[in-house]
Amino acid sequence: MMNIAFIGLGNMGHPMVLNLLKAGCQVSVFDINTVAAESLKAEGAAVASTMEECVKGAETVMTMLPAGEHVRAVYLGDHDGGIGLLRMVDEGTFLIDSSTIDPASARLVAQEARSKGFEFVDAPVSGGVAGAQAGTLTFIVGGTDDGFKQAQAVLQFVGKNIFHAGKAGDGQMAKICNNLMLGILMSGTCEALSLGMDNGLDPKVLSEIMLQSSGRNWALELYNPCPGIMEKAPASNQFQPGFMAKLMLKDLGLGLEAATSSQSPIPMGTLARNLYAFHNAEGNELKDFSSLFEFYRKQSKE
Ligand code: NAD
Repeated sequence: MMNIAFIGLGNMGHPMVLNLLKAGCQVSVFDINTVAAESLKAEGAAVASTMEECVKGAETVMTMLPAGEHVRAVYLGDHDGGIGLLRMVDEGTFLIDSSTIDPASARLVAQEARSKGFEFVDAPVSGGVAGAQAGTLTFIVGGTDDGFKQAQAVLQFVGKNIFHAGKAGDGQMAKICNNLMLGILMSGTCEALSLGMDNGLDPKVLSEIMLQSSGRNWALELYNPCPGIMEKAPASNQFQPGFMAKLMLKDLGLGLEAATSSQSPIPMGTLARNLYAFHNAEGNELKDFSSLFEFYRKQSKE
């Protein structure tokens, strides 16, 4: 039986833990939000009250945290004197971070882990909460060949497609490219549906037409941003996340940072980032990212 410690039990971490438990793994969990951790007790997880208690005795530690600053604090320690898990885990523990963060932080943690004799991979995911619940996530791994092999043995319980993008940090870079595209596609989907509505079209009929036409894309197919079209989509559930708008803004910001360092033009991604910045500034950052549709509807003349 595999013994896994899991840290970060939010919209993604929670269903991932459920799938690890379903696969017969022994899972110990920790989150600074104690409510998130307690709810997993009834499912068979061992709820730890400190990070140290969580990782002691684990063969593998998985983290699913919001951003780079959280990952650096959890692995390396923080400025308030909190020590990082690299100084808590047992010898030989394998480390997987599945958060979406900047490649530089992922490389820093990988380097620090290696210097202490630990194998660490970055393994961000794609597939959203639905993919996490169904155990069909795509994992994009950055790390050594050996790290990739070890990661496959664990990630098979929570994902379907597991890719080796390259060396440490490359998983994050590939994920950033993917989410740049997703931010653009979600903005474009909101824009096209809103334009159709302003011109008298039924958005449900328009969605069906575009799904069988060249405008087809992931947002339209699985995550329609117009309320009432897809029963299970966040749009039909008051835009409850899902994937929070603040996390999409973070990811588009990571795209912008990468583009600045490689001097790459990303006009579409920059525009999508700014749309989310305007939208979030109006108090929408905790809503699902498909709520950008409301931003478009507000500008409409209806
Ligand atoms: P979330 O905010 O719902 O969950 C993050 C959890 O981490 C929270 O429960 C928070 O309390 C916990 N946390 C923060 N700091 C901590 C610390 N120091 N110690 C322990 N726990 C701590 O976010 P999420 O939607 O689950 O996303 C997690 C990551 O996955 C993000 O990087 C996000 O970009 C990425 N992601 C999310 C989705 C999605 O659809 N939600 C899809 C793909 C990737």
